[in-house]
Amino acid sequence: MGSLRLENITKRYSDVTAVDDMNLDIEHGEFISLVGPSGCGKSTTLEMIGGLTMPTEGTVAIDGNDVTDLPPKDRDLAMVFQNIALFPHMTVFENISYGLRIQGADDDEIQRRVDDAVETLKLDGMLERMPSELSGGQRQRVAIGRAIVRDPEVFLMDEPLANLDAKLRVHMRTELQRIQRKLDVTTIYVTHDQEEAMTMSDRVAIINDGRLQQIDPPLTCYSEPNNQFVAGFIGSPSMNFIEGTIGQNRFEAEGVTIDTSRLDLDDGPVTLGIRPEDIYLESDDPAPEMVGGIAAAVDVIEPIGEKMFVYLVPEARAETDAILDGEVDTQEHLLMSIDPDADIEEGQVVDVTFDRSNIHLFDADSGDALVHGIETESAPTP
Ligand code: ADP
Repeated sequence: MGSLRLENITKRYSDVTAVDDMNLDIEHGEFISLVGPSGCGKSTTLEMIGGLTMPTEGTVAIDGNDVTDLPPKDRDLAMVFQNIALFPHMTVFENISYGLRIQGADDDEIQRRVDDAVETLKLDGMLERMPSELSGGQRQRVAIGRAIVRDPEVFLMDEPLANLDAKLRVHMRTELQRIQRKLDVTTIYVTHDQEEAMTMSDRVAIINDGRLQQIDPPLTCYSEPNNQFVAGFIGSPSMNFIEGTIGQNRFEAEGVTIDTSRLDLDDGPVTLGIRPEDIYLESDDPAPEMVGGIAAAVDVIEPIGEKMFVYLVPEARAETDAILDGEVDTQEHLLMSIDPDADIEEGQVVDVTFDRSNIHLFDADSGDALVHGIETESAPTP
């Protein structure tokens, strides 16, 4: 078993609160990513699970046992870090088996466990090599091998792929998932890369400023973000935000008017969120669930192959002349991701609409999500 519970965990360093009242409940075998911007408290959280850092308040439990005061070696977990510290003067076999030998395992046991790890990690034929004779990916696999042979209840990984080149990183993502499934070991994985978190995890824990913002399966975080921070952090390119107000059963901002009569919303300022892929050209014969109708100038077009990013400036934000003169702040852009063969060009003014089933509204003050998807049909008359 390898369930894990963090209860009201807080870590303060003099005047910095690195982790603030964090609660996490993780089941055996889950792959959980801790993701958030640099300095948000991911590593500190992982270190408290691992026993490398003592929490100021709160408890850590593994399989229901309070381990808050136990040293790392008594926690039945293994850690893999960003900086792969293999012993340079030892062979792959010696590196992988080092921990077992320290623990006093006998030769047969060591051989059996290393053989298992080698098979899982596809390191056959490399046991006698020195670390300097391995590629970056192979070295990373040896580092994982050292963790695997200990047969831990919980794996802790802190940006283990950060030092690999982009192609190898994508490959190792799949490898890590395969290994984790095969070993059926609870895994807590720290990354600042939301795409890595989204592609690998059963659930993603999004942290900002030491606080847990949401923990949910990747697609729930994407389609039902708890708040504006999660909405902006998950998804690439990021969600667009438009500030407006609710009044008289309508959302209004920058030429967008949306009927909100079917929603139970208080009047006042709100922020509308719409992802680039949920904005369409009105001329593209939009489906009936579209709303909006913003006139916007096409500032920059970026073809990226399977789609095209179009940086728009709503007419309400800037004069077309200013856009053409390159005087527009990038903050003013609304980003649309559309079919690459769309017939538009830079400098043109287009009308765009939003897929209303994918419109989000957030409280302008707290940032909390109010609505995901807007139904605007009037209720059938009884
Ligand atoms: P992340 O892993 O998300 O980048 P960290 O958990 O490393 O963030 O750090 C969270 C916050 O705690 C940061 O503001 C960092 O500067 C602070 N911090 C981390 N470790 C220490 C320490 N040993 N002493 C003082 N401040 C620290």
